[in-house]
Amino acid sequence: MPVEKIVILGSGESGVGAAILAQKQGMEVFVSDFGKIKDAYKSELEAHQIPFEEGTHSEEIILAATTIIKSPGIPDKAPIIKKIKEKNIPVISEIEFGFRYTKAKVIAITGTNGKTTTTALTYHLLDKAGLNVGLGGNIGTSFARQVANGDKEYFVLEVSSFQLDNCVTFKPHIAVLCNITEDHLDRYDYKFENYIDSKFSITKNQDADDYFIYCMDDKVTMEYFHKANPAVQKLPVSYYQKVSKGAYVENKQIIIELDQNNFIMPISELSIQGMHNSYNSMAAAISAKLVGVRNEKIRESLEDFKNLEHRLEFVATIRNVDFINDSKATNVNSTWYALESMIKPTVLIAGGVDKGNDYTLIKELVNSKVKAIICLGKDNEKLHQAFASEVGYIVDAGSMEQAVQMAYNIAEKGDVVLLSPCCASFDLFENYEDRGKQFKRCVLNL
Ligand code: ADP
Repeated sequence: MPVEKIVILGSGESGVGAAILAQKQGMEVFVSDFGKIKDAYKSELEAHQIPFEEGTHSEEIILAATTIIKSPGIPDKAPIIKKIKEKNIPVISEIEFGFRYTKAKVIAITGTNGKTTTTALTYHLLDKAGLNVGLGGNIGTSFARQVANGDKEYFVLEVSSFQLDNCVTFKPHIAVLCNITEDHLDRYDYKFENYIDSKFSITKNQDADDYFIYCMDDKVTMEYFHKANPAVQKLPVSYYQKVSKGAYVENKQIIIELDQNNFIMPISELSIQGMHNSYNSMAAAISAKLVGVRNEKIRESLEDFKNLEHRLEFVATIRNVDFINDSKATNVNSTWYALESMIKPTVLIAGGVDKGNDYTLIKELVNSKVKAIICLGKDNEKLHQAFASEVGYIVDAGSMEQAVQMAYNIAEKGDVVLLSPCCASFDLFENYEDRGKQFKRCVLNL
């Protein structure tokens, strides 16, 4: 057989991980990044003697590949991808590539919101139960790198729609679809259906031995579900409806029904609070039960899970005002859940790069829970239009420092200041992490 010539486009954690795995499989590897490669990754490629280039894409090498592994950040309309497609060279994601060389059972988690939380929590449940499990996808060490370093029995992977788009044989034993709301439409020809298709493709290779966990309360999922009707064992999660197999909420408790041995736990004892996190906890607990984790272990781990940074993260209480960092809320749906879980009068800091937001979705919650909005974006016009008549006070801030100070001035004892922007952060910040860290720093400097 001729040697496979693998070209990897993009050399972040997933690209370098894929390069190391490809080399280990005896393939010819070349890494090409149109931008700059981080020094640590360059040193790693050099140490492995894997050839690479940065700041350019050498077409003669790239178009001679037998397979391309593409970073999820590169859109299909990039000129190099168009040329690759014209030559019919297969393009796959790092997730697909890693999957081809693992014998592990894969639990894959996708959705518009809740992926990282559900993935980290599911991993925590399996890991604390003593299973041989790896955590990958968009989190931490890449899946391919872990496969190269020695296989595991289970992998829990966070997979985005962009990674699913370039999967061929990827077949998770358990697939979780948290929810679907409009997002990233710029990458899907502005057609919501294309994005939905992409999310559902997580089930495309699953069969009757596999499981599909989905949210029965999610309108979009359910509409499409009937059309797609994947040939798997279906396990719904619901807050409102009792299900015979799956998970639901009754008398403020989550209940998992799979076998004779139901799992029941009061919501108040879950370490992560808010309705959205009850969904996430139910999905993670079903997955854990499916791989044989015992009820007591599940309970223990749902109780002691440490929430991730920037997701409804408690920062401090200053003169009886709570400060909460939800910088990861980059769309309206996630802010909806943040507001839904607020039990004190709220001063909301919102704004940034709007991805076509429909603010009517949160109008009612803003009206009932928010006393003031501090707009923190370059262009705040849309926020003013949407909320001027809903809240008593709406003002603009030019920096995080100013926004936190203004919020603090307005807040009274017993209030909460919530950073939950509804928007991406790239106008004033490097990314959502930078925005959240600046918020925390400013709060602690008050
Ligand atoms: P993702 O990895 O899909 O972006 P995260 O777990 O990082 O998801 O959470 C992103 C944002 O969405 C946070 O603001 C969080 O509070 C909110 N969120 C988390 N889980 C859910 C859910 N199941 N439904 C809606 N919003 C959620």
